[in-house]
Amino acid sequence: MRQYLEAKREHPTAIIFFRMGDFYEMFYEDALTAARVLEITLTSRSKDAGGSPIPMCGVPHHAAEEYLTRLVTRGFRVALFEQVEDPHKSKTKKLLRREVVRIVSPGTLTSASYLDAKEPTFLMAMNQKEGRYGAALIDVSTGEFSTTEYSGTDGRQALVDEVSILRPREIIVAVGTELEVLLPPGDEPPTVTPIDPWAFGLDHANRVLCDQFRAASLDGFGLEGRPMATMAAGALLQYLRDTQKVVLEHVRAIAYRSLADHLLIDPSTFAHLEIVEGASGGPSDSLLAEIDRTVTSMGGRRLRDWLQRPLHACERIQNRLDAVEEFTFQTTERSKLQEALKEVRDLERLIARVALGRASPRDLVGLRLSLAVVPPVRGLLSELRAPLVRSLVAELDDVLDVRDKIERTLVDEPPGTGRDGGYIRDGCDPKIDEMRSISRNAKQYIAEMERTEQDRTGIASLKVRYNRVFGYYIEVSKSNLHAVPDDYLRKQTIATGERFITPALKEYEQKALGADEKILDREAVLFEALRNDVASEAPRIQGTARALASLDVLASFADAAGAHNYTKPHMHDGDELAITDGRHPVVERHCKDPFVPNDTLLNATSQQVIILTGPNMGGKSTYLRQVAVITLLAHAGSFVPAKRAKIPIVDRLFARVGARDKIARGQSTFMLEMQETANILRLSTSRSLVLLDEIGRGTATFDGLSIAWAVAESLATDPHTRPKTLFATHYHELTDLADSTPGVQNYHLVAREWKDDILFLRKVEAGRSDRSYGIQVARLAGLPTQTIQRAKDILSGLESDELSRGGHPSFSGKSPPPSDDDSVQLGLFRPHPSAHTRILERLQAADVDRMTPFDALTLLNELKTELEPPSRDRTP
Ligand code: ATP
Repeated sequence: MRQYLEAKREHPTAIIFFRMGDFYEMFYEDALTAARVLEITLTSRSKDAGGSPIPMCGVPHHAAEEYLTRLVTRGFRVALFEQVEDPHKSKTKKLLRREVVRIVSPGTLTSASYLDAKEPTFLMAMNQKEGRYGAALIDVSTGEFSTTEYSGTDGRQALVDEVSILRPREIIVAVGTELEVLLPPGDEPPTVTPIDPWAFGLDHANRVLCDQFRAASLDGFGLEGRPMATMAAGALLQYLRDTQKVVLEHVRAIAYRSLADHLLIDPSTFAHLEIVEGASGGPSDSLLAEIDRTVTSMGGRRLRDWLQRPLHACERIQNRLDAVEEFTFQTTERSKLQEALKEVRDLERLIARVALGRASPRDLVGLRLSLAVVPPVRGLLSELRAPLVRSLVAELDDVLDVRDKIERTLVDEPPGTGRDGGYIRDGCDPKIDEMRSISRNAKQYIAEMERTEQDRTGIASLKVRYNRVFGYYIEVSKSNLHAVPDDYLRKQTIATGERFITPALKEYEQKALGADEKILDREAVLFEALRNDVASEAPRIQGTARALASLDVLASFADAAGAHNYTKPHMHDGDELAITDGRHPVVERHCKDPFVPNDTLLNATSQQVIILTGPNMGGKSTYLRQVAVITLLAHAGSFVPAKRAKIPIVDRLFARVGARDKIARGQSTFMLEMQETANILRLSTSRSLVLLDEIGRGTATFDGLSIAWAVAESLATDPHTRPKTLFATHYHELTDLADSTPGVQNYHLVAREWKDDILFLRKVEAGRSDRSYGIQVARLAGLPTQTIQRAKDILSGLESDELSRGGHPSFSGKSPPPSDDDSVQLGLFRPHPSAHTRILERLQAADVDRMTPFDALTLLNELKTELEPPSRDRTP
């Protein structure tokens, strides 16, 4: 308990997994927490100093990963407090020495059940000082390490956005950091771990990073003059060293993440466009799921990264596109490459496990087999000419030395766990071979020895035997004792004779008895040496893994292009965006009717803002999204769903489309919409692409219309911005903007009315649409007939300019002043039945045969009065 309490004092925020034999035990409040979270039995152990029983619970050592995963998933930290002395080798019966050997937390756990194969798991460190921000990011499971810094309000927002998009599982900050301004509001908050501020010191960071990278300075890593980025990276590394307590051979370099390298996409745009998550919040129906044809998990993660951070440099994009193009033509090479890649396990994570000292013999064999595909892959891509493919092929390293070493050391199919040994290959180590042969051949050896001794002594009845008390012995019957040689040492006398040992037999006994245990020890030593050797080659293997992942994505792009009929976009530095027959990749696969392709033309002059009107359900949102998705895919280096696409390099992509508020931020408010719109107006440039759908819909009609108008006008006229804009709206008044503002054009989605029905043609054409056909769509949606009829009445009232009565807008819901004769009021908010229905009823009830001409005239007059509103209530 003293050891436990010491460990707890050192790691007060962690649950201590206290190793006792085959179990990890937890005590006191740790036990109460773990028993509740893990649903395991809570027991108690002998009383503490105060006489109370100590709550306790435990999990078996061999199943620890599963329990760790469950605790860490719930946001807990766990310190593994291990016996660091071998109980069998401890000379005394003293207490075994124990130490915290590793601390796992949401950002550092690397067990397979915790990781998602196709998603990275980030640990982040962030710091802030006088309006400047640093953010370092590492995926411990692969060693991918990067850092960046930002400044000012936009910088802070960039940091918040990064957290929102990359969703680090744990964020490290200096104790006392004000977090509210650094975390995305409304998102599920990540685990935050405050650490000692000294870890964020610049000198310390320089030292710890140089030491890790074995470099004299950090200049080669792009960190010069970037103190915030350096400090965040240093603190992150320090934290990892403190908690993982290993050398981290797989972290030998860092990259500086520059905003300028990428097409910037804010988190809400991501959510609206359903890039990596579909409408359900999961991966299904997302763009990623639609186009992902990668065959390795590394490729899956790389594709996600390319979609989340599309490129901004035309040349790099062109390189990717050329590579994809070559793969679309070279179908044989492509499919052979994909076949070969199917044999490749997650090399990035395997080498990380090796470096973290957690790889099993099976992992190393997996690594060897995966790397074995390199020579054939290089061979089959040798004829390809695209510069990117060639440079990726050049990055592939056979790592023949490492493969050989693994092959020479480990058997082809090692057992599932390393515990029982049996993974070191026969012939690899003379000592193991000898011990194995002793262990395997004990019976045979003894039989051989028996024969040899019988021959030597001439005693045919001589026996070599074993028992637990005396070990190995030679038994000679009384009658043969005279023939016993001098080197036989008497050990025991029995009724029938004597038992002896010889030095040779003693030596054999020592070997045989400890053989299995010694084999285990020796195998472990050899394996650890092998693992360390392989770990020291981590950078070569990581380079190869990265190249294979990129080849996987390029082949996947080509595959998707072939399967879904995508074409190579023409990327350029000019300003024209021209798409012919563009499609939405996800909607086209899921919609019931054949997808109707549409053209788009945007430029900086005559077609800068497009006001898009059309019926509900007409396809406006889909059209906006497809333009965004095509632009994004092109910047990621993928072919696009269009017959032809000319795409300018875009610096920022903004999309506020559809009703994704709830999913995006857990809230749906007008405020949020306005915040996002404010961001767009503030941050967009002439190189940005802006897609706005129904701005202003969340407030009163006139407010909304006014805001929509002002926003559209600003986007079209502000000389500093003028981004290419698609603006979908149901405020048809907005189409007048085109009459007065150069660069604004009206387009609409065509629909045809047929009888009482509406036919959506889903074709975008120049010009404005005059109606939204909302009531027809509501009818299609199944609103009750009575309600639809009532809505039609109200609409016809509104359309005949009956907007208000008694000074109140009629849709404000305020009742008009009471009238003496209610029957003469004609208004929108009279209770049912409506005036029309009542007139019909009265006509039906009238018995014309019995009416006098005067009765008929009176009825006619009453009906007419009922139709007309009193003139005093009409507004001009
Ligand atoms: P609202 O104004 O009501 O929000 P909308 O005009 O934005 O509607 P969308 O949501 O884009 O309409 O489209 C409605 C549905 O029409 C889609 O879910 C899709 O199934 C179908 N659709 C949209 N565009 C097309 C198209 N080009 N070809 C075929 N079907 C389409």
